[in-house]
Amino acid sequence: MGKTIIISNRLPVTVKKDEDNISYHPSIGGLATGLDGIHKESNSIWIGWPGITTDDVTPKDRRTLTKDLREIYNCKPVYLSDHEMELFYYGFCNMTIWPLFHYFVNKVEYDLEMWEMYQEVNQKFFDAVKPVIEDGDMVWVHDYQLLLLPRMIKSAFPNTKVGFFLHIPFPSFEIFRLLVWRDEILTGMLGADLIGFHTYDYVRHFLSSVRRLLGFENNLNHISCEDRYVSVDAFPMGIDYNRFTMTYNTPEFQNQVKQIISSKKGEKMLLSVDRLDYTKGIPERIRAFDTFLTKYPEYREKVRFQLIVAPSRVAVDSYADLRSEITELVSEINGKHGTVNWMPIWYFFQSFSQEGLIALYKYSDVLLVTPLRDGMNLVAKEYIAARTDYKGMVVISETAGAASEIGEVVVVNANDIDEIAEGIKTALEMPVKEKTAINKSLHKRLKRYNVSFWAQDFMNNLDKAGEIADQTAAISLEKDNSVIINAYKKAKKRIIFLDYDGTLVGFKALPEQARPDPELKRMLFDLIDDPKNKLVIVSGRDRYTLEDWLGDLRINMLAGHGLWRRELDGEWIMTVSLDNSWKKAVTNMLQVYCDRMPGALIEEKDYSIAFHYRQCEPDMVSKKMSEVWAALSSMTQSMSLTVQEGNKVLEVKDMRVDKGQSSLAFLNQEQYDFILGVGDDHTDEDLFVALPKKALTVKVGIGMTSARYRLGSWKSMRSLLKQFIELNKEKT
Ligand code: UDP
Repeated sequence: MGKTIIISNRLPVTVKKDEDNISYHPSIGGLATGLDGIHKESNSIWIGWPGITTDDVTPKDRRTLTKDLREIYNCKPVYLSDHEMELFYYGFCNMTIWPLFHYFVNKVEYDLEMWEMYQEVNQKFFDAVKPVIEDGDMVWVHDYQLLLLPRMIKSAFPNTKVGFFLHIPFPSFEIFRLLVWRDEILTGMLGADLIGFHTYDYVRHFLSSVRRLLGFENNLNHISCEDRYVSVDAFPMGIDYNRFTMTYNTPEFQNQVKQIISSKKGEKMLLSVDRLDYTKGIPERIRAFDTFLTKYPEYREKVRFQLIVAPSRVAVDSYADLRSEITELVSEINGKHGTVNWMPIWYFFQSFSQEGLIALYKYSDVLLVTPLRDGMNLVAKEYIAARTDYKGMVVISETAGAASEIGEVVVVNANDIDEIAEGIKTALEMPVKEKTAINKSLHKRLKRYNVSFWAQDFMNNLDKAGEIADQTAAISLEKDNSVIINAYKKAKKRIIFLDYDGTLVGFKALPEQARPDPELKRMLFDLIDDPKNKLVIVSGRDRYTLEDWLGDLRINMLAGHGLWRRELDGEWIMTVSLDNSWKKAVTNMLQVYCDRMPGALIEEKDYSIAFHYRQCEPDMVSKKMSEVWAALSSMTQSMSLTVQEGNKVLEVKDMRVDKGQSSLAFLNQEQYDFILGVGDDHTDEDLFVALPKKALTVKVGIGMTSARYRLGSWKSMRSLLKQFIELNKEKT
């Protein structure tokens, strides 16, 4: 069993330096508490920024704190300078990702310098991971500051399990697609074996973006990414339930309680607690309180609103503006409704300790949580837990992630000022019996799915991730390909059948982009340079394309799934004489669907009609293609036609044309003691089945196959060919 490596932007310990003294403080927040169990119990190391920049510490301090963090806290610091923090954290994280993922499109900045720094800092985190990671470790990367890190880790350390959790919302595709570096971000995240979000909505949005932007399909939340599966699921983060239900006897708690009781004078108390952030809907909430007092004047002097805003990112202009807006609104409303004896809004622009907050939670009648957008919102859960008498009530906006878990409370639209005002009244006037019933069931849920359960649940799923077995017995050659290499070495005469797209090159958006690159050309050339080798390219592409791309090499080719054969003399001959009378009827029928599916196109080949849908909107494809299948099947069942599915293409073809039968013709020409057949899609299965039993057959990628062996991707296939070439060279 390997160790656990937790990586987050901030360490669970914050380093402070006053004059010459370095001190260590626990970092506040759910993450540190939630992972505490895993970090302490297991052989674990936590990597992150220690909360102080390199500009504020001397090299000697650095040595001391690196040692202390390692020896006392099992932590490894990633050092960042003021400049790096400016462009990375205050820049790309908080001016690009944060607003975009919270749907504040007009606040998003696209700045190349910030993006470059984001990449550099992710790389710095990777550099910190590199020396401590080993095969078999479990790595858990956290949040929007490190979206590129999973890929970096997985590429360099494929034998580790990598998990990623996003603590903020994942926006819908229409929003996400606006991001300039969207493909890089998605690819970075997909390095993980398990990706977790707070809610199923975020899971859906992510799957949809991956499918539409990268073309990777998913099935039951498992994404097929070329050679691997990535699991995606919802893990709604819980709270430290015991901490919030406990009774405290500390002076701090008692003082806070005393102050609240003496100042309350029988008033009801509304509470809200947020970090200063434009996503939290604070001005809208203050306006809603104004509307409430205007509409229901009987509540004047009977209710007060305790508004707590914890300072955050105050150096950023938009946050400073928000602070001024809040201050102005509060004084406007206090001026409008206040009396000599009564101040409607008690505004605190300060951070409270959690004990201080718990005291406030316990004595507040209603909690207002109305963010315009929030990944989860832990305050809502903490408040419910702290009211162990079950008499509190929450007004929550539907755009808070927590709303999907605690939907029994009063749910409102964060932009609808009137609805929030009505929600305040409903919550204040809700009968005790109703409140008790709601709170009791919520307590059960919060107690069970607490933050330690959440962390453990994620880790258990990470342990299982990536182990979705293919239901075929194909043996992976990724770690050990000696069976092929040894057979290659021993052989006196070899024949190698290679599919082209997906086997020698990756899939491209446009067919023309799959043209062979110089490396591939060189490899094919070197392979045929050995007189023992006979090479046959077996492709679904037409003969003109193959001739254009590979015609200058002295290789054998089968085009159009075997309809056309070219031998070394360069002549193309047809292998089957065709009756094409069926084509018109099939084309007419497909045309009806093509007209209704923007992006679809029909291609007529010598022996087949192909219906391409790579450019179609994926949701439409999933609905429409079953209709196309059904229509084609009923039309073709009485003819000698077959319908085959390729990569985003359906092909109707003459049954007699198949890669397998046409390949056999080459086998009959000579005696071979090494026969290799490699392909990646359904059409290559014909080849695997037709080749003699002694042949070595290899499926590239995941999915069902009748091949004996499997390789991860076309890249692994190229590596295998390179090994063949090396062997050729060794002998000469
Ligand atoms: N919090 C705190 N003191 C404060 C304000 C907030 O300790 O003055 C804590 C609060 O108890 C909660 C966290 O900060 O655990 C805020 O988490 P939430 O998910 O509500 O919002 P976020 O700040 O992550 O957007």
